[in-house]
Amino acid sequence: MRCLKFFFLFCLLLSTSVIADSNFENADPWYQQGNDWLQSKLISQQFENLDRDKQLAKNVILFVGDGMSITTLTASRIWQGQQQGLLGEEHFLHFEAFPHTALIKTYNTNQQTPDSAGTMSAMMTGVKTRAGLISMGTEQELSDCKNSKRYQQQTLFEWGHKQGFDTGVVTTARLTNATPAATYAHSPDRGWEGDYDRHPNAYWYGCDSIAKQLINTAFPAGLDLALGGGASKLESYYPDFKQQFPHGRLLTNNQGLQALDFTSASNSNVQIGPILGVFSAENLSYELDRNNENSVNQPSLQQMTKKAIEYFQQRNGRYLLVIEGALIDYAHHKSNAARALSETSSLANAVKLADEMTADDDTLIIVTADHSHTFTMGGYPQRGNPILGISKNQKNEIVLANDGMPYTTLGYANGKAYGRQLKEVDDVLVDSKRVDFQQGVAVHLTLETHGSDDVALHAKGPAAYLFSGLMEQHEIFHTILQALGKNTGPQKLILEETL
Ligand SMILES: [Zn+2]
Repeated sequence: MRCLKFFFLFCLLLSTSVIADSNFENADPWYQQGNDWLQSKLISQQFENLDRDKQLAKNVILFVGDGMSITTLTASRIWQGQQQGLLGEEHFLHFEAFPHTALIKTYNTNQQTPDSAGTMSAMMTGVKTRAGLISMGTEQELSDCKNSKRYQQQTLFEWGHKQGFDTGVVTTARLTNATPAATYAHSPDRGWEGDYDRHPNAYWYGCDSIAKQLINTAFPAGLDLALGGGASKLESYYPDFKQQFPHGRLLTNNQGLQALDFTSASNSNVQIGPILGVFSAENLSYELDRNNENSVNQPSLQQMTKKAIEYFQQRNGRYLLVIEGALIDYAHHKSNAARALSETSSLANAVKLADEMTADDDTLIIVTADHSHTFTMGGYPQRGNPILGISKNQKNEIVLANDGMPYTTLGYANGKAYGRQLKEVDDVLVDSKRVDFQQGVAVHLTLETHGSDDVALHAKGPAAYLFSGLMEQHEIFHTILQALGKNTGPQKLILEETL
């Protein structure tokens, strides 16, 4: 961070002289801003490219915004900007100012529109696969346990344990949900979260639940930290956890998490681990609801991110950390833009914290999404129009649709129809900025669906330049290995593991 600030000041000085010396003087602030941006980019690229072939990442932090489509980024940056009193459009989410970006194709091997299991498995194993599978290859049939072990694909974490990395996963969902599960488990069915969620053939052929794999396989193999929700699936394994790990910590509320102090030099926490924090029965609460009675004991995503990084920094080794903002997806499925934008803003703030806590020259930070949603933003609202509001034109007049009703700027191509069912113009005016307001939809379904379009990836740190252009999602895994200086050939890694 300090480096960037220094370069920013430097580039301001430089850009002033560039403008003065050129024939293209233009006092328009947008012109100047454009030139400032260019100069800043040129300088930061020189910085980034210094010995870049030799630059390797010591640590990797991968942030995944579940369902964080590009439209979600646009709307969330406006939302966050407007929260700060800005018009909004000119604002950036913290990671949107990262120097390197790529577009990511998200399809599963058997679906044009992907799910979180197949997409996260692709990122974690380097192998694109079917929807519903947890870190298994595409030859695996969904929900079929028989002979399934041969299709297990080694995850980044499993590889990392053997290479001596510390590993951890943080999520606002159940820890056994598809996205976090793909970091540490293998399952022919994402639904086999708890012991009683499994199909009978899982019992017959010996496929453990994802919960059991977390406690009895992943932690013993070297997983160091897991923070999230999901006590309903995991609590039957708490005794196993305590028995196996006398120096482990089982945390069930935010007070317990905050009581862990990894920052003071003279504490006795050096030996502790692994850490399992399960802060709710199911998913954690939405950020907008976190102060409610039921969620007062839950940590925020930022609080979990801070403790996870402090823990790894105290251990002093190399680490691989996956942090998921899971509830963006849940809010979108309910056509509820307010919570989806707030969750995205929360994830962006967690990224900012991680960026501030880590050094640019040893930690690669990647921010991406697993898949998109059918979320849209349009009409012709005036500049600075409230992002959750109805569309108003340049004269600040409400724009009416063909049915005589106003419409919100944000909507969904499908989902449960709420917003457009309001009968009075006044209803929409009053309701559209409500936290619980559900946006208008075109095609009526019980739940809004994922989208099939590409998602964005933002990266900074050592070897971040490797992320560019249009990439397949599983290539993220290979690029991470390359960034760590360990890309000895993923095929070789997988064969060693499974044969
Ligand atoms: Zn979803």
